[in-house]
Amino acid sequence: MFLLTSLAMAIGSTLAGAVAVGFEPALAALIGAGLALLLGTIGARLVTLQTERLTTVAQAMAENPGKRASIAAAGEFQELGDALNRMADKLDRTTSELRGERDRFGVVLEGMVEGVIGLTSDGRVALCNRSATAMLGEVKPPLQKRLLDLVRQPALKDLLARAQAAPRLRADEVRDSDVPYVELTMASGAKLLWSAWPLDRAGIGVLLAVRDVTALRRLETVRRDFISNVSHELRTPVAIVYASAEALCDGGLEDPTVARDFAQTILRHAERMSRIISDLLDLSRIEAGAYDLSPSGVQVTERIRHAMRLIEPTTTARGQTVTADVQDGLTVRGNPQALDQVLVNLLENASKYTPQGSQIQVGCKRLGDRVELWVADNGPGIAAQHRERIFERFYRVDAGRSRDLGGTGLGLAIVRHLVEAMGGTVTCDANEPTGARFRVFLQT
Ligand code: ADP
Repeated sequence: MFLLTSLAMAIGSTLAGAVAVGFEPALAALIGAGLALLLGTIGARLVTLQTERLTTVAQAMAENPGKRASIAAAGEFQELGDALNRMADKLDRTTSELRGERDRFGVVLEGMVEGVIGLTSDGRVALCNRSATAMLGEVKPPLQKRLLDLVRQPALKDLLARAQAAPRLRADEVRDSDVPYVELTMASGAKLLWSAWPLDRAGIGVLLAVRDVTALRRLETVRRDFISNVSHELRTPVAIVYASAEALCDGGLEDPTVARDFAQTILRHAERMSRIISDLLDLSRIEAGAYDLSPSGVQVTERIRHAMRLIEPTTTARGQTVTADVQDGLTVRGNPQALDQVLVNLLENASKYTPQGSQIQVGCKRLGDRVELWVADNGPGIAAQHRERIFERFYRVDAGRSRDLGGTGLGLAIVRHLVEAMGGTVTCDANEPTGARFRVFLQT
């Protein structure tokens, strides 16, 4: 534009010169007007061209954020082009920041153990992370579906109604005690704790957090059962000791024979309580991680021979034979004392629950990167329905018989805890043709 103005001024002065050198003034004025019109048209065309180019670049930028304007002209068009480019750069940076933030948010949401579900104001799923999708038993996020169609439980309906009626708070204003929650048992048996609060932002009316508390509730039940089992196990011997001591005080001491009987009863039941307490202490020590795993590997054959020596007096007294079938030189990751206790417990059971003169086998062999140790007997065995449960605390197939034999019902629970503490597994199956076979698998 500046160029064109200068040109017009130059032409004007040239025409003035022409008049001076003798052209007709009217003709000169006509020529001048014609030239000015021509130049004006050219100027206007140039402006249109630049504007069109900028418009095209702006459109291209909208399509492709990497596109930039290159304006050769000087003056305001150059400035406009630069401003357009700066705006596009800034837009680029903002977009990539937003994209990064969205990706981070997505990663956190998808990586969460808790389920997160966002509902629209009419109760449809607008957001559902991976955990929530799995908890709902769906393969992919059930977007657009009504949550109450997926979980048909009146308690959830109430929760949503309570959440919707609650005042809208900012995240930093929400206190745990304000958030309504409900625990639901799903069709799958899973126990889910749902909490909900109103949001009214980004198309989400209610935000739900879902926690799977199945394992927690199971643990609570196990603990409750455990306490009641311990009380139950101790109640009988305590009552007997109490009654026998009372009988002694009430005149039993006067008769030496009666006194001896009562004293022996007290001793027997005191021993029983002491065994229960010592087994319970063993279990809690194992749970507290008291056994360190030996870094150098435990010699399996050595441990088997040691356990056989310890059990020999018991089996000899009952006319039972113990035979070993070992592969020499095997080592496992574990703890020697823990492995001794495992083997002795299994051998004691094999002796205790089989008749006089029965046969017990103990052995070990390599199985890839693991070693299998086994203790088998030819006694009555364990019926299939009891085999998994006998590893539970205080579970016995025949409680009376176990008590008569001095059992606490904790021996196999200790075995399983010890084996698992060493990173292994223990199983029980039937021995052929009869009897029980316990197998312990440990890493080499
Ligand atoms: P207990 O102190 O009663 O022996 P355990 O936990 O060691 O407790 O064993 C649990 C139950 O498993 C026993 O009461 C018994 O019924 C059964 N059991 C264990 N080992 C054998 C075996 N070798 N043969 C038959 N029954 C067994």
